[in-house]
Amino acid sequence: MKRRSFLPPRKESRALRLLITPLVAAGLMTVPAEARISHIIHVSVDGLRGDFLRALVEERGSQYFGFSRLQREGAVTYNARCDYSHSITIPNHTSMLTGRPVIAEAPLPPEIQHGYTTNYTIITDLLQEQGSPVGYKASTFDRVHDRGLRTALLLSKEKMSIFARSWGPDHGAPDTDGEDNGRNKIDLTAIHEGNTAPLINRLVTEMDGNFPAYTFLHLCDPDYAGHGSGWSSQNWRTAVKGADTQLSLILAALDDRPVLKASTALILSADHGGGVPDYTHLDPEKIENITIPLIIWGAGIPAGVDAHTLFSNRTDPGPERISNTNPDQPLRNGDTGNIAMALLGLPPVEGSFHRPVFAPGLEILRYLPGQPANSVTVRWPFYLTGWRLQRNASLDRETWEDVRISGDECSHTEQTLPGTRQFFRLVQPN
Ligand SMILES: [Zn+2]
Repeated sequence: MKRRSFLPPRKESRALRLLITPLVAAGLMTVPAEARISHIIHVSVDGLRGDFLRALVEERGSQYFGFSRLQREGAVTYNARCDYSHSITIPNHTSMLTGRPVIAEAPLPPEIQHGYTTNYTIITDLLQEQGSPVGYKASTFDRVHDRGLRTALLLSKEKMSIFARSWGPDHGAPDTDGEDNGRNKIDLTAIHEGNTAPLINRLVTEMDGNFPAYTFLHLCDPDYAGHGSGWSSQNWRTAVKGADTQLSLILAALDDRPVLKASTALILSADHGGGVPDYTHLDPEKIENITIPLIIWGAGIPAGVDAHTLFSNRTDPGPERISNTNPDQPLRNGDTGNIAMALLGLPPVEGSFHRPVFAPGLEILRYLPGQPANSVTVRWPFYLTGWRLQRNASLDRETWEDVRISGDECSHTEQTLPGTRQFFRLVQPN
């Protein structure tokens, strides 16, 4: 697959991207008319091993209602990957927030890595000074805050306070992106060691105020249960149930606030898996330690699809551990920050390496309920809002004409004449 930049469609100035889809019958997918996302809840569940989570969601009579709902309503993979070289907490969270691998394997240049490999508290550490090479590593917080939008960091491990320091008022970079919004990239920081309930309360309270455009939320419990009792233990499953309950609270709070819900997406991943050996996750050569879920849920996100299929440059890795040098990249936790930026309509994080590209998708549907039998509906994903639909009766001729679309920004229905063919394509806005 050809590599593409990760700029959102509205802002791209590259050559036209064309799509031609033969007329096919397909099932009904729901894409809300209003699908502009202006709030992201970026969740990391510490130590949430992907294949174990899948088993819990798929077991008969599953009690994991939150994750089951995300599976039903969102785009999900249980076979994403954490960082290639490190399967430990702080380095992987740094990757989620910067879009950088921990270490760049040769021949990738070291400038793309964040290079912070410590996984315990050093209260004076800064990513810009202790990362390698030394220098500022911009984050999701930088990108969002520099555009004048509100950000929040909600953590359940004290050791991750390095993020609050590195991107806080004393050490955050000057804002050179438009209006000066200052060096403090994180408007709201809350850290409660080992205690996620106050974080959820805070998040829900914020929903009735100036809800942040970008919130990073960390839930620690499965990791602590794994280290205490083993990833194969009932205690681990109970801890995952605890995280499931927290997620259900967030989803219910959004259900109670339909306007906010219609502009909010949740992206969930994990820093690492675990269980080989049973009480740890340190060895990244063991597939169980690097297998994590990646879930994208919310306004306009297709329901019940494999998350890999949303992206033109991501492929399910099967049972493999994939180097960053491999042209076929899996979804990684390091992708989640830039997925968040794309859904917000923002450019990727400055200096980031992990840049998943949303695949353009044009669907042609027939026999939709409520539509005449001789009609055809053309529909495309919400993240292609602003693209132009064109039609052509023959692919032999360059006679493409713009279609005045009948539906919302992302759909069109028209009558078809018996015995004729019609081709459609989407053209990227300039
Ligand atoms: Zn751990």
